[in-house]
Amino acid sequence: MTAMFNLPDIHSHDPNRAATAIINISPGDKIHDGVTYSAGIHPWDVPAATGTTIELLDRMCSHRQVVAIGETGLDALKGGELGIQTEIFRHHIQLSEKYRKPLIIHAVRTFPTIIGLKRQLCPEMPWIIHGFRGKPQLARELLNNGFYISLGEKFNPETAAVIPDDRLLTESDESKLPISEIIARISAIRNRADKHL
Ligand SMILES: [Zn+2]
Repeated sequence: MTAMFNLPDIHSHDPNRAATAIINISPGDKIHDGVTYSAGIHPWDVPAATGTTIELLDRMCSHRQVVAIGETGLDALKGGELGIQTEIFRHHIQLSEKYRKPLIIHAVRTFPTIIGLKRQLCPEMPWIIHGFRGKPQLARELLNNGFYISLGEKFNPETAAVIPDDRLLTESDESKLPISEIIARISAIRNRADKHL
């Protein structure tokens, strides 16, 4: 698995996991010493976002303890009008490029749009699809377009076997399992797949 970050868990919503995880926060949340963060407006929170939310986000993203931008993204099932979600997502893309920090992406039934945006904008920073549960075919399309893929507690085992080491990340997100257990489950499947080659 790639060591893009110093922590094995690239995405958690649980502040008690600060020793092993990048903690995801929203504009206005407090930044504590010694904790590593990602900061973004979750697609579900887009309808409630105001100009002030965006200003707070911009300030947060420049903070040295914020090492990634997000989670951000597009959700076709929740989060309101996709046009507005796209506008906010594009703002996160700009912040990611401006501050040279990877982008952590939440995608639900919006992969063609997200892949299209990446092809159009050619960002220099890594784009990470977080909590990926898709099939190997979609994973391959993402990999071919330069994406990184992060797996959590729930993932497609066939997909876990096809992601190269240098594009794979791991996360606990909202899981109750320790990240070591999640990594062990992912590794077991990948090791089994290796033996069948
Ligand atoms: Zn999350």
